[in-house]
Amino acid sequence: MPEIPDLEAIKAVLQDRIVGRSIKAVLVYKPLVIRSLTGEEIQKALMNQTFLAVHRRGKYLIFRLDRHSLVIHSMLTGRFQLGTPETRRSADTIFALTFSSGVEIRYIDNKSMGMVYLIPNDDYGSVPRYLEQGPDALDPALTYEIFRARLAKHHGEIKGILTNARFIAGIGNAYADEILFAAGIYPFRKRKTLTEDDVQRLHRSIRNVMEEATAVIKERMGDKIHLKIRDFLKVHGKAGSACRRCGGRIASVKANQRETNFCRQCQPGLLIDPQARLNL
Ligand SMILES: [Zn+2]
Repeated sequence: MPEIPDLEAIKAVLQDRIVGRSIKAVLVYKPLVIRSLTGEEIQKALMNQTFLAVHRRGKYLIFRLDRHSLVIHSMLTGRFQLGTPETRRSADTIFALTFSSGVEIRYIDNKSMGMVYLIPNDDYGSVPRYLEQGPDALDPALTYEIFRARLAKHHGEIKGILTNARFIAGIGNAYADEILFAAGIYPFRKRKTLTEDDVQRLHRSIRNVMEEATAVIKERMGDKIHLKIRDFLKVHGKAGSACRRCGGRIASVKANQRETNFCRQCQPGLLIDPQARLNL
């Protein structure tokens, strides 16, 4: 699933390639994925509107046009592609917008799980769950004091809290593993056992990990915004490989319907769930 670094890299490409252009063709292949909350038919509503900006909030990308915004949450399987109308089209394409410059942007989703909403500009309250999100993980206003106060209101395992968009928005399974590795915190530790030092490292690691990863992805992705670049991560997806910090083996625990990767030496802790222990 795209997380902050992926979405920040996509945002930068779209800002560069599409902002200021107007929409000259709208092709909708899977209309059920797109909800128009404006009362207007989507093709008619989008035609000739100018693409003013791309914003990101948590895991949502927002394409701001003259009158409307497209708000897209790509969930597990949605991705974007940049090309021209001649670029071979995937059978899983949901919609395509062709711009005055000849560039086409497509949204593709092989499971049609993602959600696309057409809203009047700024009417975010009409997008389900959008306003329930906590502050964005990269919001400069998310100071250590605010982070610590928000964290104190959440209970349970720290990885579960980090990936809860109501706590802070934009962290998913992959980057939660990376952030916890950077902070040296065992993913299944209960929040109430974290020390002041742990919480400080955690807060710092969120921004550091996200910014470093964004830079790597921007550099490697170029215009190929459909690529999912994850091979450079330090623990996520690296089960069984050597830890870059201590040389130990990266562990894999399948719990809560997802895989968690971490280093048992660098992130010490005791597993509480005996079922998860079997998968170590
Ligand atoms: Zn290690």
